[in-house]
Amino acid sequence: MKRLTGPAQVIRFFLMVIIHFTATYKSNGQAPAAEPNRLTVIKAKALIDVRNGKLIERAVIYVLNGKIEKVGTNLEIPADATVINLTDKYVMPGLIDAHTHLCHEYQYELEKVPGANIVVETAIVDNANRALIGVRNARDMINSGYTTVRDLGNSGVNADIAIRDAINKNWIPGPRIFASTRALSPIGGQFARMPDDVRRALVPKEYVEISGVEEARRAVKQAIYDGADCIKIIVNNDRMSLNQEELNAIVEEAKKAHLKVAAHATNGDGPSLMAIKAGVHSIEHGYTLSSDVLMMMADQGVYLVPTDRTGVERYQQRIKRALAANVKIAFGSDMYFLDAKRNRGQVTVSTYHSYIAAGMNNVQILQSATMHPGVLIAGDGKVGLLEKGYFADIIAVEKNPLLNIEAIENVVFVMKEGKVIKTAD
Ligand SMILES: [Zn+2]
Repeated sequence: MKRLTGPAQVIRFFLMVIIHFTATYKSNGQAPAAEPNRLTVIKAKALIDVRNGKLIERAVIYVLNGKIEKVGTNLEIPADATVINLTDKYVMPGLIDAHTHLCHEYQYELEKVPGANIVVETAIVDNANRALIGVRNARDMINSGYTTVRDLGNSGVNADIAIRDAINKNWIPGPRIFASTRALSPIGGQFARMPDDVRRALVPKEYVEISGVEEARRAVKQAIYDGADCIKIIVNNDRMSLNQEELNAIVEEAKKAHLKVAAHATNGDGPSLMAIKAGVHSIEHGYTLSSDVLMMMADQGVYLVPTDRTGVERYQQRIKRALAANVKIAFGSDMYFLDAKRNRGQVTVSTYHSYIAAGMNNVQILQSATMHPGVLIAGDGKVGLLEKGYFADIIAVEKNPLLNIEAIENVVFVMKEGKVIKTAD
């Protein structure tokens, strides 16, 4: 490097460095940094009021410091505001997926024996590459309109935390991530049975195994230390299950740290009942829950995150029972397989088809895709609605999704926390 002699040269050098980095930053296609105190006004053909299932025509949204300041019809626009013109588009809250695995990619062609693929992935893909898989999926998710996700494990050792932090620092584009770190599981995690020495080497790369109340408490503390925003538990797998005392201890420790708990529970009512009794916040999958258990969930405010595939009659029946019992349904894709033709965001958004097949109407689908997971993941008043005080997570579509729900499969504009990530033109 050339030596700098006078003060003027030093100043010029640093100015050039600043100009260089500014230029590089913009050429990466990143969203420009938000300008504090500068009002942005979005004008839209209409806004979807998801809470009430209504359309607000000629909507105007004031965005200030990343949050929604005001929403209304034909509001006056201050002369110094930055105006975003979406007057031929419908705006709605950013989509939310309550059950993602951004750093997990399942390639069916590799699966020769049951459970082999996740074993192969864990054995041969290191944390750095798990994180890079997540970087790609995070970008594809936000481009499809997902502004918040809850990432529930199968992300190696804390790759989810690395991606969350990189997005928060604006290094890479992606949704706001609520990350669980490794899932807490019975011995063996979710792998098929394997020789014990192999299990001891592999399972901790993906799960924290628990046997006993003290291990349960320690595992939650480890997750907190690792940076978790929420806790994921595998209540049951194959012949193994966490017991009531272990579940109670997990939820108690999590609640002390103000973390919510998501419980993977399948195989009838038993595992879900234990999890609900322990005080978890959501049941993931719960494919065949009875009406009695669903009514208990509604009473206690426990959400169902269905993660359904289309065309499975018994899954559809349990959605119908859940709706009849007034259980809040939070959209969760549980998407992790590699699709040759579509990216992760495109595959994820298409999974609402299973909700239509189960008899949900468009308002119910939109609420499950925004408002309900918003409260489940982030608490009241943060994400999932376009109302005063909420984060300005706003997407736009070409058609009215109250009438044409398929409009959500083609998101043309994305704003996250007041920053434009994808533009309509
Ligand atoms: Zn899952």
